[in-house]
Amino acid sequence: MNTILPTLQLEPSPQSWQQALQDLIKKPSELAELLNLSPEQLSQEAAEQFEVRVTRHFASLMEPGNPNDPLLLQVLPGIAETIKAEGYSSEPLMESDQFNPRPGVIHKYKGRLLLMASNQCAINCRYCFRRHFPYQDHHLGRKQWLEAVDYIAQDHSLSEVILSGGDPLSQSDKQLSWLAEQLKDIPHIKRLRIHSRLPVVLPSRVDEKLLSWLNSEHLQTSMVLHINHPQEISTELRHACKRLKDADVRLFNQSVLLKGINDNSGILAELSEALFESHIQPYYLHQLDKVQGAAHFQVEDEDARRLYYELRAELPGYLVPLLTQEIPGKAAKTPIV
Ligand code: SF4
Repeated sequence: MNTILPTLQLEPSPQSWQQALQDLIKKPSELAELLNLSPEQLSQEAAEQFEVRVTRHFASLMEPGNPNDPLLLQVLPGIAETIKAEGYSSEPLMESDQFNPRPGVIHKYKGRLLLMASNQCAINCRYCFRRHFPYQDHHLGRKQWLEAVDYIAQDHSLSEVILSGGDPLSQSDKQLSWLAEQLKDIPHIKRLRIHSRLPVVLPSRVDEKLLSWLNSEHLQTSMVLHINHPQEISTELRHACKRLKDADVRLFNQSVLLKGINDNSGILAELSEALFESHIQPYYLHQLDKVQGAAHFQVEDEDARRLYYELRAELPGYLVPLLTQEIPGKAAKTPIV
């Protein structure tokens, strides 16, 4: 099954990735206008609760006039977000209370630790489990980064540092390479992992400067992308992934299972095939974290399991991502099959 759709000409003449980040679509009305949508499909209240942020590249992959476009639904502020749902909270994983030994550090799993290298994303995904996260309290400057590095140096059980956020690639290469440089002299740190959606929503982020830093990086480096639907895999992303692979960066993907977007084994199979063609290894398929405002995206566990088994029947094992759920307080992700 191929997803070939007419695309919009929303990308202006070539911009640097920094300029593109300054030129995000932030007004719901602009998004509606660009995509020929009726304004009633947007909720101003939802947009006030969680800001709209969409790159022009990501918008260019959407089908104009289609209110159910699977990429649009990931970024469109809808009325369903404003309905309070039982069992959903503003902090579903309870990270900031229990696992936050230093500002911007989340140390939850054995052997690895997450460093919030940035407090912003290039797009705001409406289902994001950090949609209520107080990023302003976790803005790190170099002083806080050095404190985090000190924490990492003291804990010899750690072997991997994960740069997360926000989106760590929204930081400049200079900042990122400075941070990586600080980790270089910690002998027990062997691996650097970058969790990012930027190559997907703004492939021009993978430019010469980034590649040159990654090429010179002495730690084994991997990047975990976040792609939910095959329509997100553009020619530009494929090209960026090839360049990352050539820079010796191992690529993985995590998806979130989302009702009305990818809760279909045919779509998930198409996604796995397209990822693999783009040098990306399917890694995780996450059940939604129960964050307030995202209940309408929830797929029941029973349906998730059925999809997983359908996928296994269709694909070789190495193309089937692990279906997991993050359970607060657990020391690892929990497989749900
Ligand atoms: S890119 Fe990731 S962290 Fe940023 S809003 Fe989307 S899901 Fe959340």
